[in-house]
Amino acid sequence: MEVDVLIAGAGCAGLSLALRLKRVQPQVRVALVDKDHGGHPHKLWSFWAEQPGRVLPLDVPLKSWARMSVAGPGWSTTRSLKSLRYCTVDSHEFESRSRAALEALPGVAFVTGSVQRVESTYREARVHLADRTLRAPYAFQSCLFDATQEPRYPVWQHFAGVVVRSDTPRFDPSTFTLMDFDVPQREGPTFMYRLPFSSSEVLHEHTVFSAKPLGSAEHRRCVHRELKRRGLADCDIVREEYGAIPMFEQRLPQRRGPRAFNLGVVGGMAKPTTGYAFLRIQQQTEHLAKTWATGRPTPLPAPAWRFRAYDTTLLHMIHHAPQQATRALQTLLRDTEADSVLRFLDERPSLREELKIVFSTLPWGPFLKSALPALRHTPWAVEPPYGVYPALHEGAR
Ligand SMILES: Cc1cc2nc3c(=O)[nH]c(=O)nc-3n(C[C@H](O)[C@H](O)[C@H](O)COP(=O)(O)OP(=O)(O)OC[C@H]3O[C@@H](n4cnc5c(N)ncnc54)[C@H](O)[C@@H]3O)c2cc1C
Repeated sequence: MEVDVLIAGAGCAGLSLALRLKRVQPQVRVALVDKDHGGHPHKLWSFWAEQPGRVLPLDVPLKSWARMSVAGPGWSTTRSLKSLRYCTVDSHEFESRSRAALEALPGVAFVTGSVQRVESTYREARVHLADRTLRAPYAFQSCLFDATQEPRYPVWQHFAGVVVRSDTPRFDPSTFTLMDFDVPQREGPTFMYRLPFSSSEVLHEHTVFSAKPLGSAEHRRCVHRELKRRGLADCDIVREEYGAIPMFEQRLPQRRGPRAFNLGVVGGMAKPTTGYAFLRIQQQTEHLAKTWATGRPTPLPAPAWRFRAYDTTLLHMIHHAPQQATRALQTLLRDTEADSVLRFLDERPSLREELKIVFSTLPWGPFLKSALPALRHTPWAVEPPYGVYPALHEGAR
């Protein structure tokens, strides 16, 4: 089948892009390539937004919360979210609905194969599989991770979560816990993340930011110790998840060549200091689809340099002074309005929110100590200089 776009990797980003491209240009012919369509591990994708339903490329059930709790040893605070809502999407629900919606459209093909290489020239893009090469005017890929440099501060966010169900209602479904540091600290900032789905079902996730990821067995032991401490050892285990996300300071470029783009996590959409990527993936695919419709797709504009500098500074702190990083995170969460914290983590606080966080919340001594070496290693540009990209009609086969 001759297609206009090859999408290599049909996970969150690939499916979102395909849906959005078909929406802006129904006649576009798309092939989605994946080594295992539909066989992905189950995940919960959380994000926050003012109008969460409008973020998604299709109708998917969302669980949302309007109250956020944060805690540390000897303190805890719960605040209502004003304009934002914290939400979670079930990845299996999202992927199966997206595939069903795409299968119902003309001009969409699903190809199964292991992608070896994605490259492009000014004339065409190529996706190399083990046994053949697919060609099209454009390719977008979310399956090959090609960091070129060793990270200076190699930190991982690693976690294991357990969803437990109780026979009796005992959880408050209106309030989620973003970070509870009142747990034994490991080699880096360590906290529990809790999402109550109903009064009888809750996710408890044990998370650590550190250089060496703990194995899933050790993380699970920590979750079970926490369940026991909270009197929940008798609950049924419904589901478990384990993950390790790199929090490296390098921002990966979205451009891969004249006619190829990197999408999703491999396209730099995960924020280094939080690991959250879902919202930015939706923004990236929306932007690519919109600019595609004009004939010349362009990368999602990179966040302002200072946000990359804040990230590099915190990563330096986590790497070199983990206890100070833990204290700084607790101070930020304890002393800041919930909406302001979330907007800051999303790199779009108001000027007032940003000035308050930077000048009156962050611990200046340790922050400057990390900022001075870290800033030297925060490059100005994220995208490689490919010059002006060819428009869709230029040089296409
Ligand atoms: C357990 C876990 C929980 C997460 N929770 C959150 C969260 O709550 N909020 C948030 O914002 N972010 C979260 N993230 C980060 C991020 O949002 C997810 O990882 C998301 O799935 C990234 O989407 P993606 O399309 O970039 O990658 P994926 O969804 O992983 O898609 C990549 C696709 O490429 C395919 N593929 C890989 N290699 C090949 C190959 N060689 N050939 C062919 N196909 C290939 C895979 O099968 C997959 O379909 C989480 C990550 C993990 C691991």
